[in-house]
Amino acid sequence: MPAHMLQEISSSYTTTTTTTITAPPKGTLKNGGEKLEKTPLYLGEDIRPEMKDDIYDPSYQDAEGPRPKLEYVWRNIILMSLLHLGALYGITLVPTCKFYTLLCAYVYYLISVLGITAGAHRLWSHRTYKARLPLRLFLIFADTMAFQNDVYEWARDHRTHHKFSETHADPHNSRRGFFFSHVGWLLVRKHPAVKEKGGTLDLSDLKAEKLVMFQRRYYKPAVLLMCFILPTLVPWFFWGETFLHSLCVATFLRYAIVLNVTWLVNSAAHLYGYRPYDKNIDSRENILVSLGAGGEGFHNYHHSFPYDYSASEYRWHINFTTFFIDCMAVLGLAYDRKKVSKAAVLARIKRTGDGSHKSA
Ligand SMILES: [Zn+2]
Ligand SMILES: [Zn+2]
Repeated sequence: MPAHMLQEISSSYTTTTTTTITAPPKGTLKNGGEKLEKTPLYLGEDIRPEMKDDIYDPSYQDAEGPRPKLEYVWRNIILMSLLHLGALYGITLVPTCKFYTLLCAYVYYLISVLGITAGAHRLWSHRTYKARLPLRLFLIFADTMAFQNDVYEWARDHRTHHKFSETHADPHNSRRGFFFSHVGWLLVRKHPAVKEKGGTLDLSDLKAEKLVMFQRRYYKPAVLLMCFILPTLVPWFFWGETFLHSLCVATFLRYAIVLNVTWLVNSAAHLYGYRPYDKNIDSRENILVSLGAGGEGFHNYHHSFPYDYSASEYRWHINFTTFFIDCMAVLGLAYDRKKVSKAAVLARIKRTGDGSHKSA
């Protein structure tokens, strides 16, 4: 459906009649037509007018027909298996690790998580706040250390995930099961719909950002250095850790943990938990995921309000990333943080929530 028609349907909910709607978006009528007349369905408050391509488009539905055959990407399957074997071996080495090696691995984990959550996710995918150059430099280094594809590709996949959630155009469609949405999607070729719909998104802001394009250009050598070589060499060189401990704990185990906690946002937080803000979408509130992934488990809220810099109704409640962004704001490095008003959140809870919110 062309964008202007979508806009028309969306704005028609603000009027008192729905007779002009010929094809109501998926899931809306379940909730009762009258309720939807009063407030726009997808756009909410216009607190971030510069971007719309991460807003859910319920008019897109999977085409009928057989599923395309799975095409395995053997290189990824082998590398991912080796990494996880190395990480498992790393677990057995933890008791014999030097304290500073463990501390170092923990700090790497925190930095990598921030690269994804505060960087690739909240800054570059959703533009929920603005960051000055020193912070953007830190985040691009941190994101490179996390090695989850460069920011441009990550943000493109992620905007596609939000706009076409739970369809074949969603790169990690959770309707294809826990394993697929967790890691399986990285081990097979993308569904043709991902490429087709992902290609329609506006990524001009990312293309225009020199730092993002710079990372993309030098991504492979940068990842080798930031994710593997440097984290392995530091404990070995500075406090005489064995090379094996350094490699398997500070690098393999730390990298595998960061990957898995962020993947849990796509798998567990789309499958397990309450939906206090919107029961018509699959993403859920999952506190355990928030604990591991720096505050990214308030996922029903986040899909309902993707432009909120806290990715949660709250600020510092199990949300290390928001704490970090707020600290950066105190230093003047982060600014223009978008936060949805309480009134808009309460209205949404009332309109589309599953009744599990304390205010419901
Ligand atoms: Zn999601
Ligand atoms: Zn998101």
